[in-house]
Amino acid sequence: DNEGLRLLLLENISQEAVSYLRAQAFTVDHYTKALSEDELVEKIPHYHAIGIRSKTRITERVIKAASKLLVIGCFCIGTNQVDLATAAKAGIPVFNSPFSNSRSVAELVIAEIIALSRQLFQRSFELRAGIWNKQSKGCWEVRGKTLGIVGYGHIGSQLSVLAEALGMRVIFYDVINLMPLGSARQVDPLQALLAEADFVTLHVPELPETVNMISKTELEQMKEGSYLINNARGRVVDIPALIEALQSKHLAGAALDVFPAEPASNGATFDDSVNSWSSTLRSLPNVILSPHIGGSTEEAQRMIGEEVSQALARYLNYGSTVGAVNFPEVDLRAITAEQGDHVRVCHVHNNQPGVLRQVNDILSPYNVEKQYSDSKGDVAYLLADIADVSPTDVNKLREQISKTRANILT
Ligand code: NAD
Repeated sequence: DNEGLRLLLLENISQEAVSYLRAQAFTVDHYTKALSEDELVEKIPHYHAIGIRSKTRITERVIKAASKLLVIGCFCIGTNQVDLATAAKAGIPVFNSPFSNSRSVAELVIAEIIALSRQLFQRSFELRAGIWNKQSKGCWEVRGKTLGIVGYGHIGSQLSVLAEALGMRVIFYDVINLMPLGSARQVDPLQALLAEADFVTLHVPELPETVNMISKTELEQMKEGSYLINNARGRVVDIPALIEALQSKHLAGAALDVFPAEPASNGATFDDSVNSWSSTLRSLPNVILSPHIGGSTEEAQRMIGEEVSQALARYLNYGSTVGAVNFPEVDLRAITAEQGDHVRVCHVHNNQPGVLRQVNDILSPYNVEKQYSDSKGDVAYLLADIADVSPTDVNKLREQISKTRANILT
């Protein structure tokens, strides 16, 4: 009975998500704003699930107050705003939406490639200032040019397909061997890509080994007159070195959507005390700067809404943790209406010897049709489908299983 389950959705999560969850008969309270820690501590004890975006922080104090909370949905990519380890210890899986905006980023890169090679932003700035400057010098078609993709994951591979459709040659570099799409070609090492590409575009995550991955040496290894595009993470590029490469005209242009220290809110400017390079960068010609909008489209927001609300419903209805970021991923096929006398036991426990035996002792008098368990760090999770269970059995099982709560991390 989903009506008994109350969901709190904050930060103006998309209407698609609200409608989907209400259609599943959950009771949904929907707010446009984020809540402070104090406000959350007061409200959260009444809810079984919470949906947030990047501004609401789910701290240890909030999780301690969340006596009924079963699951957290981050309707965004990042999950740093949640204390993931404390949530896992409390038996609360956290879901996010890692790939809903890959296509949006790939499309923006295509726009940047063409805009850079046609000096479109420069011409537009000039004309806005009243200057007519029709010229073809240094402006190129992208057809036949080589695109070098660094990081061939969700975004990089999607971009590969789009770029080939424009007649570009695609090469890519990745730390793992991957199947090239279309006529793309994997190259190794990174220097081979830098030496061959007319456009270098970055799609790696921020990791210790990718911080300043593109610095003075790598920029020097890029072809004369080539372009650099960064829609990944700001710290992947050494910006002062990039400024030098642009000022010396070794590079013909660059597009940056991400920066090492980004302003916290709309309307804010770069903090020049942290980003001493910001005014120089802003004054350079043929540099496209955008405020981390790679994934910001209506479609991506809608897909995030659908993806995360479905993950929440799948967990609350069937116990599936596929896609959870802090939890073992466990799933069993949904019980159908014809299997009316089946029940599913979902059991979160400490990953330590003896607990499974204890649970299976309780299940042993019944016909266990399917069972699956997995662990991640200190947390283990078991799903078991039991057939031919009467309502009295269900109550008895519930009582017995709840006695193993000593093993449910709280
Ligand atoms: P992904 O995990 O699907 O792919 C990343 C790829 O990089 C993987 O194939 C991985 O093997 C490779 N890789 C990791 N370390 C590497 C290294 N040292 N050298 C070469 N390759 C390496 O990620 P994704 O979804 O394609 O996202 C890529 C990046 O884009 C991430 O940094 C993400 O944060 C960023 N992103 C930005 C925006 C935006 O708004 N601008 C939106 C979404 C994602």
